Amino acid sequence: MQISLKETAAVLKSVQRIVITSHVNPDGDAIGSSLGLMHALRALGKEVQVFIDDDIPAAFSVLPGYELIGKPVEGQSIPADLLVAVDVSLDRIGLVKEAVTAPTLNIDHHITNDGQADKLYLDGTAAATAEIIYHLIEELGVTCDKDMAMCLYTGLATDTGWFRFSNTTPDTMRTAADLLACGAVPNVISESLEQRPYEEVQNLAAAMQKIELLADGKVAGICLDYAALQEHEAPEGLIGMVRVIEGVDIAFTLKEKEPGLCRVSLRSKGIDVTKIALQFGGGGHVRAAGCSIEKNCVEARADLLKVIMQVLEEEK
Ligand code: 5GP
Ligand code: MN
Repeated sequence: MQISLKETAAVLKSVQRIVITSHVNPDGDAIGSSLGLMHALRALGKEVQVFIDDDIPAAFSVLPGYELIGKPVEGQSIPADLLVAVDVSLDRIGLVKEAVTAPTLNIDHHITNDGQADKLYLDGTAAATAEIIYHLIEELGVTCDKDMAMCLYTGLATDTGWFRFSNTTPDTMRTAADLLACGAVPNVISESLEQRPYEEVQNLAAAMQKIELLADGKVAGICLDYAALQEHEAPEGLIGMVRVIEGVDIAFTLKEKEPGLCRVSLRSKGIDVTKIALQFGGGGHVRAAGCSIEKNCVEARADLLKVIMQVLEEEK
């Protein structure tokens, strides 16, 4: 059931023990929104824990509360009155779904949200879930402090490509300004997130050698099969390097993370890439989406390209 922001605040106020979670393969918005909301609810006297079923990249250790993020183990049962899933539908929270059996509240900005949660606050116009969480904090009557601001600013900055993407609105900028006024330090966040180990920069160079240009230059992508990923780990932000190629509308990366299981990232400069991701059970936003394909790299690439070409054809 979809609810309003006011109702979302009321639901949170009505319970004491809250577990917050977000998607596997967590990004800045997933981690920032989870921790930002955690700080706000703790300020209200709630018992709050964040559990994410994945490793949290060390670059995010700049965020207050990073060390408090738990990772559920198989068979674990985590007591709670409410499970709050942010920046995700309930299908991508991994083991947290089994570990927490409490009623679910979902706060999201993905237009592809599956609506499976007991209660859902969805705002597809928000640039980031962090933008929603900031307004929720206002609704809760909590005073935004530096810890909350650092986390939420990170979510907002990363999901908007540092305020460059088309999802950046006047409200995004106003929210960012408020967060700065609350104590967020933008350069500390950006310096921590842009830093990479030397090996990763070299891995980026290796991966870039594999860019393929298709469909008269409208599509570009990089496929890394399991063997390639064993040799060089996939660097963060690879898709961004493909997206910048002149003339390219759809950019993709395909990574065979486990033999027979590929993770796909999609970006576009106009075409709705959720149309592609949804065909494989994924989702996301018009210009940034993703999915998994349970096939080896060669087969998954063929399936993916077929759908990309269909969508390109429909757009003509
Ligand atoms: P990324 O390529 O950065 O992993 O994801 C781009 C966007 O698509 C993000 O907003 C992310 O949450 C969403 N997304 C990526 N993979 C999936 C998926 O498998 N399912 C759904 N529903 N959304 C995804
Ligand atoms: Mn997001």
